[in-house]
Amino acid sequence: MRAKHAARPHRARRTSDRTTALSITNPATGAVVLRIAADGPREVAARYATARAAQPRWAATPLRRRLATIAKFRELVVARTETLAHTLTQEVGKPIRQSRNELKGLLARLDFFLDASTRALREEKVFADAAQKLDERITHEPLGVIANISAWNYPYFVGSNVFVPALVAGNAVLYKPSEFATLTGRHIADLMHAAGVPEDVFVPVLGGGATGAALLRQPVDGVFFTGSYATGAKIAASAGKRMIKVQLELGGKDPVYVCDDVDVAATAAAVADGAFYNTGQSCCSVERIYVHEAIYTPFVDAFVAEVERYRIGDPTDEATYIGAITRRPQLDVLRRQVQDARRKGARVALGGSPIKRKGNWFAPTVLTDVDHSMLVMREESFGPIIGIQAVADDAAAIDLMNDTEYGLTAGVYTHDAARARRVLAHVNAGSVYWNCCDRVSPRLPWSGVKHSGMGLTLSTMGIQTFTRPKAWHLKT
Ligand code: NAD
Repeated sequence: MRAKHAARPHRARRTSDRTTALSITNPATGAVVLRIAADGPREVAARYATARAAQPRWAATPLRRRLATIAKFRELVVARTETLAHTLTQEVGKPIRQSRNELKGLLARLDFFLDASTRALREEKVFADAAQKLDERITHEPLGVIANISAWNYPYFVGSNVFVPALVAGNAVLYKPSEFATLTGRHIADLMHAAGVPEDVFVPVLGGGATGAALLRQPVDGVFFTGSYATGAKIAASAGKRMIKVQLELGGKDPVYVCDDVDVAATAAAVADGAFYNTGQSCCSVERIYVHEAIYTPFVDAFVAEVERYRIGDPTDEATYIGAITRRPQLDVLRRQVQDARRKGARVALGGSPIKRKGNWFAPTVLTDVDHSMLVMREESFGPIIGIQAVADDAAAIDLMNDTEYGLTAGVYTHDAARARRVLAHVNAGSVYWNCCDRVSPRLPWSGVKHSGMGLTLSTMGIQTFTRPKAWHLKT
Protein backbone atom coordinates (compact mmCIF):
# COMPACT_ATOMS: atom_id res chain seq x y z
CA MET A 1 0.00 0.00 0.00
CA ARG A 2 2.82 2.31 0.85
CA ALA A 3 4.38 1.74 -2.58
CA LYS A 4 1.15 2.74 -4.31
CA HIS A 5 1.12 5.96 -2.35
CA ALA A 6 4.80 6.67 -3.03
CA ALA A 7 4.18 6.70 -6.78
CA ARG A 8 2.54 10.11 -6.49
CA PRO A 9 4.91 13.08 -6.63
CA HIS A 10 3.53 14.99 -3.65
CA ARG A 11 4.00 11.98 -1.41
CA ALA A 12 7.11 10.48 -2.91
CA ARG A 13 9.90 11.64 -0.61
CA ARG A 14 11.07 9.41 2.19
CA THR A 15 12.83 11.12 5.04
CA SER A 16 13.74 10.12 8.53
CA ASP A 17 11.11 12.30 10.24
CA ARG A 18 8.32 10.86 8.12
CA THR A 19 7.44 8.11 10.50
CA THR A 20 3.78 8.50 11.38
CA ALA A 21 1.54 6.02 9.61
CA LEU A 22 -1.96 7.01 8.63
CA SER A 23 -4.50 4.19 8.58
CA ILE A 24 -7.58 4.81 6.49
CA THR A 25 -10.40 2.70 7.88
CA ASN A 26 -13.90 2.10 6.59
CA PRO A 27 -16.05 3.12 9.59
CA ALA A 28 -18.94 0.97 8.40
CA THR A 29 -16.90 -2.25 8.54
CA GLY A 30 -13.76 -1.51 10.55
CA ALA A 31 -11.63 -2.72 7.61
CA VAL A 32 -8.40 -0.93 6.85
CA VAL A 33 -8.64 0.49 3.33
CA LEU A 34 -5.13 1.85 2.99
CA ARG A 35 -2.07 2.72 5.05
CA ILE A 36 0.04 5.65 4.03
CA ALA A 37 2.81 7.66 5.64
CA ALA A 38 1.72 11.01 7.01
CA ASP A 39 3.66 14.12 6.04
CA GLY A 40 6.23 14.96 8.68
CA PRO A 41 7.72 18.38 9.52
CA ARG A 42 10.35 18.16 6.78
CA GLU A 43 7.83 17.41 4.02
CA VAL A 44 5.55 20.13 5.30
CA ALA A 45 8.39 22.69 5.25
CA ALA A 46 9.33 21.64 1.72
CA ARG A 47 5.74 22.01 0.52
CA TYR A 48 5.52 25.42 2.12
CA ALA A 49 8.71 26.55 0.33
CA THR A 50 7.34 25.31 -3.00
CA ALA A 51 4.06 27.15 -2.52
CA ARG A 52 5.78 30.35 -1.42
CA ALA A 53 7.95 30.34 -4.56
CA ALA A 54 4.98 29.67 -6.86
CA GLN A 55 2.42 32.09 -5.43
CA PRO A 56 3.53 35.35 -7.14
CA ARG A 57 3.29 33.73 -10.59
CA TRP A 58 -0.21 32.46 -9.78
CA ALA A 59 -1.28 35.88 -8.52
CA ALA A 60 -0.02 37.42 -11.77
CA THR A 61 -2.09 34.96 -13.83
CA PRO A 62 -5.17 36.80 -15.14
CA LEU A 63 -8.31 36.22 -13.05
CA ARG A 64 -10.19 34.80 -16.05
CA ARG A 65 -7.52 32.09 -16.39
CA ARG A 66 -7.67 31.23 -12.71
CA LEU A 67 -11.45 31.00 -13.03
CA ALA A 68 -11.09 28.77 -16.09
CA THR A 69 -9.25 26.19 -13.96
CA ILE A 70 -12.17 26.15 -11.51
CA ALA A 71 -14.62 25.69 -14.40
CA LYS A 72 -12.50 22.77 -15.59
CA PHE A 73 -12.39 21.36 -12.03
CA ARG A 74 -16.20 21.47 -12.06
CA GLU A 75 -16.29 19.51 -15.34
CA LEU A 76 -13.99 16.87 -13.88
CA VAL A 77 -16.13 16.56 -10.74
CA VAL A 78 -19.20 15.97 -12.93
CA ALA A 79 -17.36 13.35 -14.99
CA ARG A 80 -16.06 11.49 -11.90
CA THR A 81 -19.04 11.89 -9.56
CA GLU A 82 -19.66 8.17 -9.01
CA THR A 83 -16.03 7.40 -8.13
CA LEU A 84 -15.81 10.42 -5.83
CA ALA A 85 -19.08 9.53 -4.10
CA HIS A 86 -18.00 5.93 -3.51
CA THR A 87 -14.65 6.98 -2.05
CA LEU A 88 -16.39 9.40 0.29
CA THR A 89 -18.84 6.74 1.43
CA GLN A 90 -16.03 4.25 1.94
CA GLU A 91 -13.89 6.48 4.15
CA VAL A 92 -16.48 8.44 6.17
CA GLY A 93 -19.44 6.01 6.17
CA LYS A 94 -21.82 8.53 4.59
CA PRO A 95 -24.84 6.94 2.85
CA ILE A 96 -24.15 6.87 -0.87
CA ARG A 97 -27.11 9.07 -1.83
CA GLN A 98 -25.91 11.70 0.62
CA SER A 99 -22.39 11.49 -0.85
CA ARG A 100 -23.87 12.20 -4.29
CA ASN A 101 -25.91 15.06 -2.80
CA GLU A 102 -22.75 16.59 -1.40
CA LEU A 103 -21.13 16.51 -4.84
CA LYS A 104 -24.26 18.06 -6.36
CA GLY A 105 -24.10 20.78 -3.71
CA LEU A 106 -20.44 21.32 -4.55
CA LEU A 107 -21.41 22.16 -8.14
CA ALA A 108 -23.80 24.86 -6.91
CA ARG A 109 -21.01 26.38 -4.81
CA LEU A 110 -18.60 26.30 -7.73
CA ASP A 111 -21.24 28.00 -9.89
CA PHE A 112 -21.58 30.74 -7.31
CA PHE A 113 -17.81 31.34 -7.16
CA LEU A 114 -17.56 31.30 -10.96
CA ASP A 115 -20.36 33.83 -11.19
CA ALA A 116 -19.51 36.16 -8.29
CA SER A 117 -15.70 36.31 -8.10
CA THR A 118 -15.03 38.85 -10.83
CA ARG A 119 -17.47 41.26 -9.20
CA ALA A 120 -16.13 40.62 -5.69
CA LEU A 121 -12.48 41.06 -6.65
CA ARG A 122 -12.66 43.98 -9.07
CA GLU A 123 -10.94 47.28 -8.34
CA GLU A 124 -13.38 49.73 -6.75
CA LYS A 125 -13.33 53.46 -7.38
CA VAL A 126 -14.87 54.84 -4.19
CA PHE A 127 -14.28 58.59 -4.63
CA ALA A 128 -13.22 61.04 -7.35
CA ASP A 129 -13.06 64.82 -7.09
CA ALA A 130 -11.82 66.89 -10.00
CA ALA A 131 -11.36 70.06 -7.94
CA GLN A 132 -9.06 68.27 -5.47
CA LYS A 133 -7.58 66.21 -8.33
CA LEU A 134 -8.15 63.23 -6.05
CA ASP A 135 -9.04 59.65 -6.87
CA GLU A 136 -9.53 56.97 -4.17
CA ARG A 137 -9.64 53.26 -4.94
CA ILE A 138 -9.61 49.85 -3.29
CA THR A 139 -7.93 46.79 -4.73
CA HIS A 140 -8.18 43.27 -3.32
CA GLU A 141 -4.72 41.74 -2.96
CA PRO A 142 -4.19 38.04 -2.27
CA LEU A 143 -3.02 37.17 1.23
CA GLY A 144 -0.16 35.02 -0.14
CA VAL A 145 0.25 31.44 1.03
CA ILE A 146 -2.58 30.15 3.17
CA ALA A 147 -3.09 26.99 5.22
CA ASN A 148 -6.46 25.28 4.94
CA ILE A 149 -6.95 22.71 7.72
CA SER A 150 -10.20 20.91 7.08
CA ALA A 151 -12.83 18.59 8.57
CA TRP A 152 -14.13 15.23 7.34
CA ASN A 153 -17.92 15.51 7.69
CA TYR A 154 -18.50 17.43 4.44
CA PRO A 155 -15.02 17.49 2.92
CA TYR A 156 -16.21 18.84 -0.45
CA PHE A 157 -18.28 21.61 1.13
CA VAL A 158 -16.01 22.83 3.90
CA GLY A 159 -12.93 22.42 1.69
CA SER A 160 -14.29 24.23 -1.35
CA ASN A 161 -15.60 27.11 0.79
CA VAL A 162 -11.94 27.88 1.41
CA PHE A 163 -9.67 26.60 -1.31
CA VAL A 164 -11.78 27.66 -4.30
CA PRO A 165 -12.12 31.38 -3.48
CA ALA A 166 -8.57 31.39 -2.06
CA LEU A 167 -7.18 30.12 -5.37
CA VAL A 168 -9.41 32.40 -7.42
CA ALA A 169 -8.16 35.39 -5.40
CA GLY A 170 -4.52 34.52 -6.26
CA ASN A 171 -3.34 32.66 -3.17
CA ALA A 172 -1.34 29.46 -2.99
CA VAL A 173 -3.09 26.91 -0.76
CA LEU A 174 -1.55 24.31 1.54
CA TYR A 175 -4.55 22.03 1.94
CA LYS A 176 -4.67 19.56 4.82
CA PRO A 177 -7.77 17.42 4.53
CA SER A 178 -8.89 15.66 7.67
CA GLU A 179 -7.10 12.37 8.29
CA PHE A 180 -10.60 10.82 8.10
CA ALA A 181 -11.10 12.12 4.55
CA THR A 182 -7.61 11.62 3.16
CA LEU A 183 -8.67 9.77 0.00
CA THR A 184 -11.18 12.48 -0.81
CA GLY A 185 -8.45 15.07 -0.23
CA ARG A 186 -6.24 13.24 -2.71
CA HIS A 187 -9.05 13.15 -5.27
CA ILE A 188 -9.57 16.89 -4.86
CA ALA A 189 -5.87 17.60 -5.36
CA ASP A 190 -5.64 15.33 -8.39
CA LEU A 191 -8.68 16.97 -10.02
CA MET A 192 -7.40 20.48 -9.27
CA HIS A 193 -4.06 19.65 -10.88
CA ALA A 194 -5.73 17.98 -13.86
CA ALA A 195 -7.84 21.13 -14.21
CA GLY A 196 -4.71 23.26 -14.59
CA VAL A 197 -4.01 24.58 -11.09
CA PRO A 198 -0.22 24.13 -10.75
CA GLU A 199 0.92 21.44 -8.30
CA ASP A 200 2.95 24.02 -6.38
CA VAL A 201 -0.08 26.34 -6.02
CA PHE A 202 -2.60 23.82 -4.64
CA VAL A 203 -0.51 21.64 -2.40
CA PRO A 204 -1.99 18.77 -0.38
CA VAL A 205 -0.47 18.05 3.02
CA LEU A 206 -1.58 14.67 4.37
CA GLY A 207 -1.77 13.58 7.97
CA GLY A 208 -3.45 14.09 11.31
CA GLY A 209 -3.10 16.62 14.12
CA ALA A 210 0.72 16.47 14.21
CA THR A 211 0.87 17.29 10.49
CA GLY A 212 -1.59 20.15 11.03
CA ALA A 213 0.58 21.47 13.86
CA ALA A 214 3.66 21.26 11.62
CA LEU A 215 1.81 23.22 8.95
CA LEU A 216 0.99 25.94 11.46
CA ARG A 217 4.70 26.33 12.23
CA GLN A 218 5.30 27.52 8.66
CA PRO A 219 5.24 31.29 8.08
CA VAL A 220 1.92 31.23 6.23
CA ASP A 221 -0.10 34.41 5.64
CA GLY A 222 -3.41 33.03 6.84
CA VAL A 223 -4.98 30.00 8.52
CA PHE A 224 -8.46 28.87 7.55
CA PHE A 225 -9.67 26.10 9.80
CA THR A 226 -12.80 23.98 9.95
CA GLY A 227 -13.20 21.63 12.88
CA SER A 228 -13.93 21.41 16.58
CA TYR A 229 -13.81 24.22 19.11
CA ALA A 230 -11.08 22.34 21.03
CA THR A 231 -8.72 22.29 18.05
CA GLY A 232 -9.79 25.76 16.90
CA ALA A 233 -8.76 27.21 20.26
CA LYS A 234 -5.29 25.65 19.88
CA ILE A 235 -4.99 27.04 16.38
CA ALA A 236 -6.02 30.52 17.46
CA ALA A 237 -3.42 30.42 20.26
CA SER A 238 -0.66 29.25 17.93
CA ALA A 239 -1.44 31.85 15.24
CA GLY A 240 -2.31 34.68 17.62
CA LYS A 241 1.09 36.29 18.05
CA ARG A 242 1.88 36.24 14.35
CA MET A 243 -0.68 38.82 13.23
CA ILE A 244 -1.90 36.68 10.37
CA LYS A 245 -5.47 36.21 9.31
CA VAL A 246 -7.18 33.42 11.26
CA GLN A 247 -10.63 32.09 10.41
CA LEU A 248 -12.27 29.37 12.45
CA GLU A 249 -15.43 27.54 11.45
CA LEU A 250 -16.27 25.46 14.49
CA GLY A 251 -19.00 23.37 16.04
CA GLY A 252 -22.53 24.14 17.10
CA LYS A 253 -25.38 23.15 19.39
CA ASP A 254 -28.01 24.34 16.98
CA PRO A 255 -31.56 24.75 18.31
CA VAL A 256 -34.93 24.63 16.58
CA TYR A 257 -38.09 26.01 18.19
CA VAL A 258 -41.43 24.55 17.04
CA CYS A 259 -44.37 26.90 17.70
CA ASP A 260 -47.92 25.77 18.49
CA ASP A 261 -49.39 26.77 15.08
CA VAL A 262 -47.51 24.32 12.81
CA ASP A 263 -48.53 21.27 10.82
CA VAL A 264 -47.21 18.78 13.37
CA ALA A 265 -46.44 15.79 11.13
CA ALA A 266 -44.76 17.83 8.37
CA THR A 267 -42.69 19.83 10.87
CA ALA A 268 -41.63 16.72 12.80
CA ALA A 269 -40.44 15.13 9.53
CA ALA A 270 -38.52 18.26 8.47
CA VAL A 271 -36.83 18.74 11.85
CA ALA A 272 -35.98 15.02 12.15
CA ASP A 273 -34.24 15.24 8.77
CA GLY A 274 -32.34 18.30 10.06
CA ALA A 275 -31.22 16.32 13.10
CA PHE A 276 -30.38 12.96 11.49
CA TYR A 277 -29.19 13.74 7.95
CA ASN A 278 -25.52 12.77 7.55
CA THR A 279 -26.12 10.62 10.64
CA GLY A 280 -26.22 13.83 12.69
CA GLN A 281 -22.61 14.64 11.80
CA SER A 282 -23.16 18.12 10.35
CA CYS A 283 -21.93 21.31 11.95
CA CYS A 284 -25.43 22.73 11.44
CA SER A 285 -27.37 19.58 12.38
CA VAL A 286 -30.31 20.31 14.63
CA GLU A 287 -28.90 19.43 18.08
CA ARG A 288 -31.71 20.64 20.41
CA ILE A 289 -35.46 20.89 19.85
CA TYR A 290 -37.85 23.07 21.86
CA VAL A 291 -41.54 22.48 21.31
CA HIS A 292 -44.43 24.62 22.50
CA GLU A 293 -46.12 22.67 25.31
CA ALA A 294 -49.51 22.85 23.54
CA ILE A 295 -48.27 20.41 20.86
CA TYR A 296 -45.42 18.66 22.72
CA THR A 297 -46.94 15.17 22.94
CA PRO A 298 -48.24 14.91 19.35
CA PHE A 299 -44.96 16.37 18.09
CA VAL A 300 -42.86 13.80 19.99
CA ASP A 301 -45.09 10.98 18.70
CA ALA A 302 -44.80 12.15 15.10
CA PHE A 303 -41.04 12.71 15.46
CA VAL A 304 -40.41 9.23 16.87
CA ALA A 305 -42.61 7.64 14.18
CA GLU A 306 -40.58 9.46 11.52
CA VAL A 307 -37.18 8.43 12.92
CA GLU A 308 -38.34 4.81 13.31
CA ARG A 309 -38.81 4.74 9.53
CA TYR A 310 -35.15 5.59 8.82
CA ARG A 311 -33.24 2.81 7.13
CA ILE A 312 -29.95 2.09 8.97
CA GLY A 313 -27.14 0.04 7.51
CA ASP A 314 -24.68 -0.48 4.70
CA PRO A 315 -23.86 3.03 3.44
CA THR A 316 -23.37 1.76 -0.11
CA ASP A 317 -27.03 0.62 -0.19
CA GLU A 318 -29.16 3.16 -2.08
CA ALA A 319 -31.94 2.88 0.53
CA THR A 320 -29.77 3.69 3.56
CA TYR A 321 -30.41 6.95 5.38
CA ILE A 322 -28.42 6.43 8.63
CA GLY A 323 -24.79 5.45 8.07
CA ALA A 324 -21.78 4.83 10.28
CA ILE A 325 -20.20 7.10 12.88
CA THR A 326 -17.00 8.27 11.22
CA ARG A 327 -14.79 8.66 14.31
CA ARG A 328 -14.91 5.76 16.75
CA PRO A 329 -14.29 7.86 19.92
CA GLN A 330 -17.56 9.68 19.19
CA LEU A 331 -19.43 6.54 20.27
CA ASP A 332 -18.23 7.22 23.83
CA VAL A 333 -19.43 10.84 23.65
CA LEU A 334 -22.89 9.67 22.56
CA ARG A 335 -23.04 6.90 25.15
CA ARG A 336 -22.03 9.36 27.91
CA GLN A 337 -24.68 11.89 26.84
CA VAL A 338 -27.43 9.24 26.93
CA GLN A 339 -26.32 7.90 30.34
CA ASP A 340 -26.13 11.41 31.79
CA ALA A 341 -29.60 12.33 30.48
CA ARG A 342 -31.12 9.08 31.77
CA ARG A 343 -29.59 9.58 35.20
CA LYS A 344 -31.06 13.09 35.37
CA GLY A 345 -34.59 11.98 34.44
CA ALA A 346 -34.83 11.94 30.64
CA ARG A 347 -36.91 9.32 28.85
CA VAL A 348 -35.34 7.35 26.01
CA ALA A 349 -38.14 7.35 23.45
CA LEU A 350 -36.03 5.61 20.81
CA GLY A 351 -32.57 4.00 20.54
CA GLY A 352 -30.11 4.89 23.28
CA SER A 353 -27.06 2.72 22.59
CA PRO A 354 -24.46 1.65 20.04
CA ILE A 355 -25.53 -0.99 17.51
CA LYS A 356 -23.55 -4.21 17.80
CA ARG A 357 -22.01 -4.83 14.40
CA LYS A 358 -18.59 -4.40 12.84
CA GLY A 359 -17.56 -0.76 12.50
CA ASN A 360 -18.92 2.28 14.36
CA TRP A 361 -22.70 2.37 14.78
CA PHE A 362 -25.11 4.15 17.07
CA ALA A 363 -28.89 3.72 17.01
CA PRO A 364 -30.90 6.85 16.14
CA THR A 365 -31.82 8.13 19.58
CA VAL A 366 -34.62 10.42 20.73
CA LEU A 367 -34.55 11.71 24.32
CA THR A 368 -37.57 13.49 25.79
CA ASP A 369 -38.21 15.24 29.12
CA VAL A 370 -34.73 16.75 28.85
CA ASP A 371 -33.46 19.99 30.38
CA HIS A 372 -30.34 22.14 30.36
CA SER A 373 -28.71 20.31 33.27
CA MET A 374 -28.05 17.50 30.77
CA LEU A 375 -24.97 17.20 28.53
CA VAL A 376 -27.16 16.30 25.55
CA MET A 377 -28.62 19.83 25.63
CA ARG A 378 -25.25 21.57 26.17
CA GLU A 379 -22.38 19.72 24.45
CA GLU A 380 -22.17 19.13 20.72
CA SER A 381 -23.39 15.56 20.10
CA PHE A 382 -22.28 15.22 16.46
CA GLY A 383 -24.18 11.99 16.02
CA PRO A 384 -27.67 10.53 15.63
CA ILE A 385 -29.08 11.66 18.97
CA ILE A 386 -31.45 14.48 19.88
CA GLY A 387 -33.18 15.92 22.94
CA ILE A 388 -36.72 17.38 22.80
CA GLN A 389 -37.82 19.82 25.53
CA ALA A 390 -41.24 21.41 26.12
CA VAL A 391 -41.44 25.22 26.51
CA ALA A 392 -44.28 27.42 27.79
CA ASP A 393 -43.92 30.31 25.33
CA ASP A 394 -41.69 32.15 22.85
CA ALA A 395 -39.77 34.01 25.56
CA ALA A 396 -38.80 30.74 27.27
CA ALA A 397 -37.76 29.28 23.92
CA ILE A 398 -35.54 32.29 23.15
CA ASP A 399 -33.86 32.06 26.58
CA LEU A 400 -33.09 28.38 26.09
CA MET A 401 -31.92 28.82 22.50
CA ASN A 402 -29.40 31.41 23.71
CA ASP A 403 -28.32 29.35 26.73
CA THR A 404 -25.27 27.87 24.96
CA GLU A 405 -21.57 28.42 24.39
CA TYR A 406 -22.18 28.08 20.67
CA GLY A 407 -23.93 30.17 18.01
CA LEU A 408 -23.84 28.66 14.53
CA THR A 409 -27.49 28.35 13.43
CA ALA A 410 -30.98 28.50 14.95
CA GLY A 411 -34.42 27.88 13.46
CA VAL A 412 -38.07 28.47 14.17
CA TYR A 413 -41.12 26.73 12.69
CA THR A 414 -44.38 28.70 12.63
CA HIS A 415 -47.00 29.90 10.14
CA ASP A 416 -46.63 33.43 11.48
CA ALA A 417 -43.92 35.45 9.69
CA ALA A 418 -43.92 38.26 12.25
CA ARG A 419 -43.57 35.80 15.12
CA ALA A 420 -40.66 34.09 13.34
CA ARG A 421 -38.85 37.38 12.80
CA ARG A 422 -39.42 38.38 16.42
CA VAL A 423 -37.93 35.13 17.71
CA LEU A 424 -35.01 35.05 15.28
CA ALA A 425 -34.11 38.70 15.93
CA HIS A 426 -33.40 37.74 19.54
CA VAL A 427 -31.33 34.66 18.82
CA ASN A 428 -27.55 35.01 18.81
CA ALA A 429 -26.39 32.87 15.86
CA GLY A 430 -24.54 33.31 12.57
CA SER A 431 -27.45 31.93 10.49
CA VAL A 432 -31.16 31.88 11.30
CA TYR A 433 -33.88 29.84 9.62
CA TRP A 434 -37.63 30.23 9.30
CA ASN A 435 -39.43 26.97 8.42
CA CYS A 436 -36.16 25.32 7.43
CA CYS A 437 -32.96 24.10 9.10
CA ASP A 438 -29.60 22.40 8.45
CA ARG A 439 -29.12 24.52 5.34
CA VAL A 440 -26.20 26.42 3.79
CA SER A 441 -26.43 28.79 0.82
CA PRO A 442 -23.37 29.89 -1.15
CA ARG A 443 -24.99 33.31 -1.56
CA LEU A 444 -25.12 33.98 2.19
CA PRO A 445 -22.21 34.40 4.62
CA TRP A 446 -21.48 31.31 6.71
CA SER A 447 -20.24 32.23 10.16
CA GLY A 448 -20.62 31.50 13.85
CA VAL A 449 -20.56 33.46 17.07
CA LYS A 450 -19.00 32.51 20.42
CA HIS A 451 -17.45 29.00 20.30
CA SER A 452 -18.83 28.45 16.79
CA GLY A 453 -15.98 30.47 15.39
CA MET A 454 -14.82 33.70 13.86
CA GLY A 455 -14.60 35.01 10.32
CA LEU A 456 -16.79 33.78 7.49
CA THR A 457 -16.88 31.90 4.22
CA LEU A 458 -19.32 32.01 1.28
CA SER A 459 -21.15 35.04 -0.17
CA THR A 460 -19.10 37.78 -1.86
CA MET A 461 -17.63 38.59 1.57
CA GLY A 462 -16.36 35.01 1.69
CA ILE A 463 -14.43 35.66 -1.54
CA GLN A 464 -12.97 38.96 -0.35
CA THR A 465 -11.92 37.32 2.92
CA PHE A 466 -9.04 35.68 1.05
CA THR A 467 -7.65 39.11 0.16
CA ARG A 468 -6.42 42.19 1.96
CA PRO A 469 -7.79 45.54 0.86
CA LYS A 470 -5.22 47.99 -0.44
CA ALA A 471 -6.21 51.66 -0.22
CA TRP A 472 -5.08 53.86 -3.12
CA HIS A 473 -4.91 57.66 -2.63
CA LEU A 474 -4.17 59.05 -6.09
CA LYS A 475 -3.50 62.76 -6.73
CA THR A 476 -2.84 63.98 -10.22
P1 NAD B 1 -11.08 18.27 14.58
O1 NAD B 1 -10.95 19.55 15.32
O2 NAD B 1 -10.82 17.01 15.32
O3 NAD B 1 -10.09 18.25 13.31
C1 NAD B 1 -10.14 19.23 12.30
C2 NAD B 1 -8.80 19.30 11.59
O4 NAD B 1 -7.81 19.78 12.49
C3 NAD B 1 -8.29 17.97 11.07
O5 NAD B 1 -7.76 18.17 9.78
C4 NAD B 1 -7.20 17.60 12.08
O6 NAD B 1 -6.21 16.77 11.55
C5 NAD B 1 -6.65 18.97 12.42
N1 NAD B 1 -5.94 19.07 13.70
C6 NAD B 1 -6.16 18.37 14.84
N2 NAD B 1 -5.31 18.79 15.83
C7 NAD B 1 -4.57 19.79 15.29
C8 NAD B 1 -3.54 20.64 15.79
N3 NAD B 1 -3.11 20.55 17.05
N4 NAD B 1 -2.99 21.57 14.97
C9 NAD B 1 -3.43 21.69 13.70
N5 NAD B 1 -4.40 20.91 13.15
C10 NAD B 1 -4.96 19.97 13.94
O7 NAD B 1 -12.54 18.28 13.95
P2 NAD B 1 -13.25 17.17 13.04
O8 NAD B 1 -13.55 15.97 13.84
O9 NAD B 1 -12.49 16.99 11.77
O10 NAD B 1 -14.60 17.91 12.64
C11 NAD B 1 -15.74 17.92 13.46
C12 NAD B 1 -15.96 19.30 14.04
O11 NAD B 1 -15.94 20.28 13.01
C13 NAD B 1 -17.32 19.44 14.69
O12 NAD B 1 -17.19 20.19 15.89
C14 NAD B 1 -18.13 20.22 13.65
O13 NAD B 1 -19.21 20.93 14.18
C15 NAD B 1 -17.07 21.13 13.10
N6 NAD B 1 -17.43 21.63 11.77
C16 NAD B 1 -17.75 22.94 11.64
C17 NAD B 1 -18.13 23.43 10.40
C18 NAD B 1 -18.52 24.88 10.20
O14 NAD B 1 -18.67 25.28 9.07
N7 NAD B 1 -18.68 25.67 11.24
C19 NAD B 1 -18.20 22.57 9.30
C20 NAD B 1 -17.86 21.23 9.48
C21 NAD B 1 -17.47 20.76 10.72
